[in-house]
Amino acid sequence: MKCSRLLISLFTCTVLLCTVSCKEFSSKVLGSGMEDSSRDTLKERLTQQEKKPVLLNRWDSLQKNLIHFTVDSLNPIPVKQQKRNLKDSLRAAFNTHPKHIYLTFDDGPLIGSAAIDSLAREKNVKVSVFLIGRHANMSKRRKRDLEKYESNPLVACYNHSYTHARNQYSRFYNNPQEAFADFEKNEQDLQLKHKIVRLPGRNIWVYDDVRKIDLKSGATTADLLHNAGYKIFGWDVEWRINSVTGIAGQSQEATLTHIRNFMNNKSSMTPNNVVFLMHDDMFQTKKGQEQLSALIDGLKREGYQFEFMQDYPVKY
Ligand SMILES: [Zn+2]
Repeated sequence: MKCSRLLISLFTCTVLLCTVSCKEFSSKVLGSGMEDSSRDTLKERLTQQEKKPVLLNRWDSLQKNLIHFTVDSLNPIPVKQQKRNLKDSLRAAFNTHPKHIYLTFDDGPLIGSAAIDSLAREKNVKVSVFLIGRHANMSKRRKRDLEKYESNPLVACYNHSYTHARNQYSRFYNNPQEAFADFEKNEQDLQLKHKIVRLPGRNIWVYDDVRKIDLKSGATTADLLHNAGYKIFGWDVEWRINSVTGIAGQSQEATLTHIRNFMNNKSSMTPNNVVFLMHDDMFQTKKGQEQLSALIDGLKREGYQFEFMQDYPVKY
């Protein structure tokens, strides 16, 4: 009952906002004396806005402080409270939609890749792997791991650079042209089909109209890649397991709670979509593999849908 009232008020807000923005559009944009080309550009922008999903649109506007709240004199509700109410109603509305999880594994092929490949098949879940060409060319075994990934329809292969910056990130990103070339080499060498990358050592997102940079030194490389048609994805939640001992920094249960909190609070980059980062070498021990298996079972029990990064984000 409470939930449906929230949804009704949310719907009313949306209709009101739409009416206002449409009015603004007609007076400001379609007014006289406007050049045809700029009119077309603005029309295009409006069409894009209309296409943008209602909930996400409202959520983004709220986050960016673009929504104007007024205090009614008869029934005064402070703006802060109104914002909180709207946030709660948006969260409740998002919660009526499916939850999407992206299991992403970096730095393969490595020891541990074969276990990820078998677990994906055994559990019938989609996984995304961000690959290093240099690792694939290190031995016959790693080449075989790569072939396993390539032939598994539940595994999507993406670009994590050819050299992984040789783990000297500042030096790598100080020369953006060379860094860019390293990603291109990886794409050709591994014959990657998707223009999707994750930058080594950086949690950077550049896609559609999103640009979120954690450390400035990777920004130019990310922009070069984006201008060349790539999408750059970071991560929301990371899990670490010691590759040799199989001991997790955070237990499987605590990690599941961490993901659940991100989902419920809508604190991931896009609400209802959680990008989860792991590394291939975490799963070279039986202990590591068992924890991953248990985590996947936990996510399934909670009704998560497993997605490929090429489908990120699912918008509502
Ligand atoms: Zn990496």
